[in-house]
Amino acid sequence: MKVWRESTNVANACHDHSLNDVRLSHPYEVLLEAIGAEVFHVVFRNRELMFRLNQYLAGLVQEIEAEMLTDTPELRKRFTARGNLRRSTPPTWAHWAVFFRDAGLCVICGVDLTGRFNVLTAKNYDHIVPLAAGGLNDVTNLQLLCRKCNATKSDSPSGTSRVYPHFGARPNPKPSGPSK
Ligand SMILES: [Zn+2]
Repeated sequence: MKVWRESTNVANACHDHSLNDVRLSHPYEVLLEAIGAEVFHVVFRNRELMFRLNQYLAGLVQEIEAEMLTDTPELRKRFTARGNLRRSTPPTWAHWAVFFRDAGLCVICGVDLTGRFNVLTAKNYDHIVPLAAGGLNDVTNLQLLCRKCNATKSDSPSGTSRVYPHFGARPNPKPSGPSK
């Protein structure tokens, strides 16, 4: 019992210290922001991880009940009657970020989309976890797909591929045909 009390005291002291002396300090906030930026820089490349993250977040979105939004009309406007987020156009920087991460290739079939469409206005950006499944309109939930793969995927559940592009020469370029 004594040990338990002592450890509780230590735990409480640590909690108070982190709450009052560390967490709320400006240097710690700056550090957290830097760590967050660094972690995002590393994990954004990992589509499989982005997929799992967004599956988790979609579960939270689907737990939101209509009554929870009645007091916040601004928030409610973002949701459909079915409780899914409304589709919104990603900002320009998000288009570019996803295009460069996926190296201009369809992440499923690998067709080279470079020069085939306008990066800023194309419909080739797919929600990894669909909005209908609770997915977010967030850069972490977007991937590059050719129209053929996008049409195929829309009939199937959430998903991405584990094929990661390399940024060097492309030894077997797909034949360039009409814009997909
Ligand atoms: Zn494709």
